[in-house]
Amino acid sequence: MKPYQNFIGGEWITSTTKKRVPNVNPANTDDILGELPLSTREEAVAACDLAAGAFREWRRVPAPKRGAIVSRAALIMDERKEEIARALSHEEGKLLVEARGEMQRSINIMEFTGAHGRRLNGETIPLELADNFGYTIKQPLGVAALITPWNFPVAIPVWKIAPALVAGNTVVFKPATLTPETATLVLQCFVDAGLPAGVLNMVFGVGGEVGAAMIDHPAVKAVSFTGSTEVGMGVYRQAARRGIRAQCEMGGKNPVIVLEDADVDLAVAGVAAGAFGSTGQRCTATSRVILLHPVADAFLEKLVAAAGKMRLGDPLAEGTDMGPSVDASQLQTVLKYIDIGKAEGAELLCGGARAFDGRLAKGYFVQPTVFDRVRPEMRIAQEEIFGPVLSVLRVESFEEAMAAANDSQFGLTSSIYTRDGGRMFRYIDEIETGMTHVNSPTLGGEAQLPFGGTKATGVGPREQGSEVFDFYTETKVVYIDYTGAKREGKLY
Ligand code: NAD
Repeated sequence: MKPYQNFIGGEWITSTTKKRVPNVNPANTDDILGELPLSTREEAVAACDLAAGAFREWRRVPAPKRGAIVSRAALIMDERKEEIARALSHEEGKLLVEARGEMQRSINIMEFTGAHGRRLNGETIPLELADNFGYTIKQPLGVAALITPWNFPVAIPVWKIAPALVAGNTVVFKPATLTPETATLVLQCFVDAGLPAGVLNMVFGVGGEVGAAMIDHPAVKAVSFTGSTEVGMGVYRQAARRGIRAQCEMGGKNPVIVLEDADVDLAVAGVAAGAFGSTGQRCTATSRVILLHPVADAFLEKLVAAAGKMRLGDPLAEGTDMGPSVDASQLQTVLKYIDIGKAEGAELLCGGARAFDGRLAKGYFVQPTVFDRVRPEMRIAQEEIFGPVLSVLRVESFEEAMAAANDSQFGLTSSIYTRDGGRMFRYIDEIETGMTHVNSPTLGGEAQLPFGGTKATGVGPREQGSEVFDFYTETKVVYIDYTGAKREGKLY
């Protein structure tokens, strides 16, 4: 069985651990793709040591040259786009077309970020004193520890690794245990672009072991984490104990509001894509829809018809509309929440069970599920499910819709469907999410815009866009006095 290797100090290295787990195709559990090492803490520490050793030289490489390496990695990834998309679809279970979309998004991020090597600007700032000037420079921090989930196993590593490197940091990356094949292929693109040894390292393993050892390493000066809120808050606390900066992007429960003046067909298409696309396993998935009473019945009739037409199956096959949950544990979580929804008294409109027909029995498939008449206090309205399960709340007014949308611990993204400009702008002002959409699904994000959430979804500065460099750099403030004179009688 193919063993995945760590990448430490510029070399692919087999872990010394005896603990290994199979990498299983979630659409067909007879298909084993490889074997993942659950590396030791010592291996994580060794990777951090080597990243620390490489930092001194790497920070001296001019930012445009660091950016050029990331731009080259983008070209390499573009050449390997189809190969990596297929590996991603095979290993994680998202549709091939979705995997191709993730590849393009990742390439865009690398292009944008690589070019930023030429724009790592500070500011020149006028001083009160004559013949003096002040300016700022952006400097790297040291070693960045990057910890990622399985659901966007190309894009999320890329949107952390690329800016960390362009900013001049060295990196230790811990990918999710469920997606080692993809992580290996992503890393190889950066390596083949010409990174010096030790600048980028990758260690597979359990978060509480490898991830925790990385966060505690003295050379690590920044932690960027994406994953669940429960784990992310622990990561934030651990980083805070050391006084290092941390950025945690975590869970979501993204709402869509459909007002009575909405284009119902447009809203149904957007909600179906948001709720069932990528099997609901996106941080930006739509998991609540809030309907004004006048549109509710017409909307739900069309949505349930759309859900009923979805063909579940092999994500690599043409014609499949929805792939599996990523693993047995995620499948159990989704089925548990379906039971909770039924027990809470929500009205099941469609789905509500595991899908077993024919070849589906070998995979972790769940039917697209819609619960109607969900009340805000129900657990299926409040807790992240991370599967193709949509909770529908019916409301009487715009104000009630806003209250329901904001009645959540999470705040990643959201959307409203309406043709009313006044209520649209009130919504944009009052919605408590880090990103929002108008007349389009909750999904996606472009490379040049910041990405991230509020409340229990996000702590620390945003990822992506130009803002990401605020996280990966330190600002140094410089005062230059070119008078050559002592400043008599002045207080400093
Ligand atoms: P997870 O929290 O279980 O794991 C995320 C990563 O953290 C993995 O690499 C894991 O090994 C590691 N980890 C686990 N315990 C750790 C610890 N104690 N210390 C350090 N690292 C540790 O999340 P997951 O199941 O892989 O991903 C799904 C979650 O990710 C969902 O909640 C989803 O909403 C969230 N997500 C959020 C965003 C966003 O931008 N807000 C994007 C994608 C996914």
